[in-house]
Amino acid sequence: MTKDRLTSLSDKLTGAKRLVIKIGSALLIDEDSDLRRDWMRALATDIVRLRDRGQEVVIVSSGAVALGAQALGTAGEKRRLQDNQAAAAVGQVRLAHAWQEVLADHDITVAQILLTLEDTETRRRYLNARDTVETLLSMGVVPVINENDTVATQELRYGDNDRLAARVAQMVSADCLIILSDVDGLHTKNPEADPDAQLVEIVDDINQNIVDMAGAPKKLSVGSGGMITKITAAKIAVASGCHVLLTNGTHDQPIARFEAGGRGTWFTAKENSVSQHKQWLAGTLTAAGKMFIDEGALAALQQGKSLLPAGVTSIEGDFQRGDTVVVIAPDGLERARGLAAYSSTEARKIMGHNSRDMEDILGYRGRGELIHRDNLVLH
Ligand code: GLU
Repeated sequence: MTKDRLTSLSDKLTGAKRLVIKIGSALLIDEDSDLRRDWMRALATDIVRLRDRGQEVVIVSSGAVALGAQALGTAGEKRRLQDNQAAAAVGQVRLAHAWQEVLADHDITVAQILLTLEDTETRRRYLNARDTVETLLSMGVVPVINENDTVATQELRYGDNDRLAARVAQMVSADCLIILSDVDGLHTKNPEADPDAQLVEIVDDINQNIVDMAGAPKKLSVGSGGMITKITAAKIAVASGCHVLLTNGTHDQPIARFEAGGRGTWFTAKENSVSQHKQWLAGTLTAAGKMFIDEGALAALQQGKSLLPAGVTSIEGDFQRGDTVVVIAPDGLERARGLAAYSSTEARKIMGHNSRDMEDILGYRGRGELIHRDNLVLH
């Protein structure tokens, strides 16, 4: 049974249209903090194989801080945030250059994209970043993404590339996220300390039991992740309908090796997951305004319809078209979140009116709804 399931999960890898491959610092950097170029060359052949099958590949690569620290002579030292920011600035250019070099051997063009947390949390920036990645992929380019550690602050950063990779996978609607790490996958217990530890091959539900297996964050010599950030990343990705494979990347051509019968942990995607767009929407941390609605509008939203101006009784806040607003039901509770189709000024003019009258009120022919159902998520 498990064997059948594993075979069908392997098809998720070979059959994925779009793959995000996350590569941890520990795989890229050796004990002397030098780049493992031979390993990168071998991985490049793995990537070529995927692309030859028609699969699109996005790389999320760590290693900037570790490489830069080596170049600046601060590797192994206790570094402050600004030291890491400086190290990332020095290391990122080397990292990107190395990717360019190993993929250029196969006539593949790479593009560097550096993201900050705000780039995935702010809708406009998220859409911009998504469009850029889409454009690059349509041109056959391999985007190589990292966090922009040089400008990231303590408060506003992902801090680990596992969650960054998950947000990227969500952003580009990837079918499969491969997290290459220096462990075989998730174990029932800490495999370094306990010989009884067993590899968990399939995780369908990331519950507390699974989180407990991940244990406390591990202190790593390079990189900032650990099993727990991988679990958090897997949670984000599977909720967006993306399968996640966590497998050991230390050997050459780890993806080919996995396909040939290697081991790893699969986190399976949620079948009826809400669209990636709505996932983003539901996860936004701030809202620019509020729309108060009547019972009729609430019933319409519950049937999957758009929010029309007629059902809106009042509006709070200043927002622009495209900003996130919360929708408040007559009982005073937030029932939905959506992207406003009009600014707050326009919305105030048209609320309570029939969509037919909107042209007269606004002086132009706008959309019929205040929040389109595709841009609305019910709680
Ligand atoms: N963005 C960091 C770097 O490139 C790595 C973060 C992580 O280890 O996950 O050095």
